[in-house]
Amino acid sequence: MLHHCQYIVNQIPSNILSKIRTQNALIDMWGKCGSIEKAKNVFNLVVDRATLTYTAMINAFGLNGMGSQAAELYREMPNHLRDHVSQICVLNACSHAGLLHEARTIFNEISLKTESIITTMVDCLSRLFMFDEAQKLIEDYEKTNTPSIIMYMSLLSGARNNRNSNLSEKIYKRMKTLFPNAKESLAAGVVLLSNIYSSIGKHEEAKTFRSNQIEELGVKVKVGLSWTEIKGHIVHLKAHDHSHPQSTEIYAKIDRLKSKAIENGFIFDSSWMTRSLNENETIESVLCGHSELLVIALNLIQEPAPKFIQVVKNLRVCGHCHEFTKVIAKIEQCDIVVRDANRIHHFYPNGQCSCQDHF
Ligand SMILES: [Zn+2]
Ligand SMILES: [Zn+2]
Repeated sequence: MLHHCQYIVNQIPSNILSKIRTQNALIDMWGKCGSIEKAKNVFNLVVDRATLTYTAMINAFGLNGMGSQAAELYREMPNHLRDHVSQICVLNACSHAGLLHEARTIFNEISLKTESIITTMVDCLSRLFMFDEAQKLIEDYEKTNTPSIIMYMSLLSGARNNRNSNLSEKIYKRMKTLFPNAKESLAAGVVLLSNIYSSIGKHEEAKTFRSNQIEELGVKVKVGLSWTEIKGHIVHLKAHDHSHPQSTEIYAKIDRLKSKAIENGFIFDSSWMTRSLNENETIESVLCGHSELLVIALNLIQEPAPKFIQVVKNLRVCGHCHEFTKVIAKIEQCDIVVRDANRIHHFYPNGQCSCQDHF
């Protein structure tokens, strides 16, 4: 969390702070905290930049949705310093910002296309719903290599965003045939596919599919958790959590935010529902019970209400929470930084997110 990082930095003697290894680590740290300005300040101080310095900065841009800046810096990076990791980082940054042209150009320039490089390109194409081209890359790769499950996961998650149940079923079946022992990844695939069924209103099918497949695989599905810092203490909550002492206030705050959002024309999108409603539940109450929203509300009921909120989540943020957090940032005129399993989202008081909705 941001001020812990600053606290640590303040303790570091200046002769160590000026060492390149420390500076590289600091760029990485500030980037991961969502503080791109601080990362840039350190980067600018480094006189003799190494591969790691550039890579850390490119990655910091990428994590924070600044794909163009990442590509620009990669271009500025001396050729002999570019390596496999910097290539993955820049492609990843382009992928997360939807910069297809830049990604393609860089990808075509890379002579040694490793599994990770191709996976990143598959991810970029899948995010833009260019499934034929993505599948073609996978096919070509498999002509001379053993199949890679991560490529299929990228494809599947693109198909989920596209709510393409036919393609998703095909991908999942292929994953089961090719990787029968990759239980954890297959379980993640089951969750994605069952979420697609739910998103098109097939809640029963989703439930049956999910429970049958998970039982067959014999694994546990990861519970969604979000962490935040309240008055110097790290607090974590799960979805629909009622364990916190300020639980009543948290849900009351969520209700107030919901009403304000609706007044501003917000529509609750039932396609983000991953299960059917239980008694006494509404679409709004289910969607607004996701863990990241609960910890954001917990921050907002503190006195004085903070103008900067930081959240870490172990899974990916869903489309509803993404839209709703944009509205919260605007209503509360607050900066909200959410690091999910995939990237950093910086929600600004103007109601926009740094990822520009590419996630
Ligand atoms: Zn959510
Ligand atoms: Zn975002």
